[in-house]
Amino acid sequence: MRALTYHGPFDVRVTDVADPAPFDAEAAVVAVRACGICGSDLHIYEGHGFSPDLGFCVGHEAVGEVVEVGAAVTRFRVGDSVLVPGSVGCATCGPCRAGYVLGCERNRSGCYGLGAMLPGSQAQAVAVPSADGNLVAIPDGVSDDAALVLTDNAPTAWYGARRARSEPGDVVAVVGLGPVGIMSVLSAQIMGAARVLAIDLVPERRAAAAALGAEPVEGDPKVAVREMTGGRGAGVVLEAVGADATIDLAMKIAARGARVSVVGVNQSANFAMHMALAQFNELEFAIGLCSVQRELPALLALTQSGRLQPEVVVTHHLPLSDGAEAYELFRSRAGGVGKVGLDPSR
Ligand code: ZN
Ligand code: ZN
Repeated sequence: MRALTYHGPFDVRVTDVADPAPFDAEAAVVAVRACGICGSDLHIYEGHGFSPDLGFCVGHEAVGEVVEVGAAVTRFRVGDSVLVPGSVGCATCGPCRAGYVLGCERNRSGCYGLGAMLPGSQAQAVAVPSADGNLVAIPDGVSDDAALVLTDNAPTAWYGARRARSEPGDVVAVVGLGPVGIMSVLSAQIMGAARVLAIDLVPERRAAAAALGAEPVEGDPKVAVREMTGGRGAGVVLEAVGADATIDLAMKIAARGARVSVVGVNQSANFAMHMALAQFNELEFAIGLCSVQRELPALLALTQSGRLQPEVVVTHHLPLSDGAEAYELFRSRAGGVGKVGLDPSR
């Protein structure tokens, strides 16, 4: 089959690789109808990946059809239309049964496409371990674009807003308006934010957030957010980039007693948090990684009812064969590019 594989910084290529097969009786294989490029894929692309491996298949966002199931898989059969959450667990321990796969007690927690151990889903097919816990049926009324965003970006944003305890009436600032940031805007709105202030360096991204009802922050956000909030700052700050500078900014636009929640990936071992500021302003700080399975029941219900429209972040559809160009396009942040969906049949 064809797959996008990583060969070093700025070198992602379409290559022919062996067709995936179930690892064991609990596994399944999904033929991918659509796959996405995530911000964390750019970490790999830029050479700041999560393993030293080369030549592995990248990607952790996919929707498709089950084409093979192991003998022990009970909840899915060949032909089922499924989304493949980016996070995986064992499906049987207590935390995994509750969807909290990051807390897997059998050490099976992981993610596709970060190294050779669990090949990624920017490919024509992907093998899924412990399929009963790591596949989710796509309900009626949920499009492939929406389902693709529900594999990672939407749950990550929702998880970040949940951890910030975003509440009705809050003034919420969102730092970074890529796909996760836009989903953070929508999450805060559903949770009842009175106002959502939208921060990004790219004007088209601020405009996209404004079109969804957020207030774009123009100029220096440290000054502008104070001006827009009567000097107070934002009561909730959702950080969706993960860079040291944007996490620092998130702390500096926060109101006294604010909750700051970070879901952007940051691999730094010595982040210089302004402790005096955080202490004086009595900030609460949360950071973590989303267990997609845990957030999906609420998000699927919201998507089915039409209250949440995850598909709004998908701006481009390209063939998998243009994968290298797609990475460059997403990395450029040019021209209002949001989520890039790839079609493995082309
Ligand atoms: Zn991701
Ligand atoms: Zn587990």
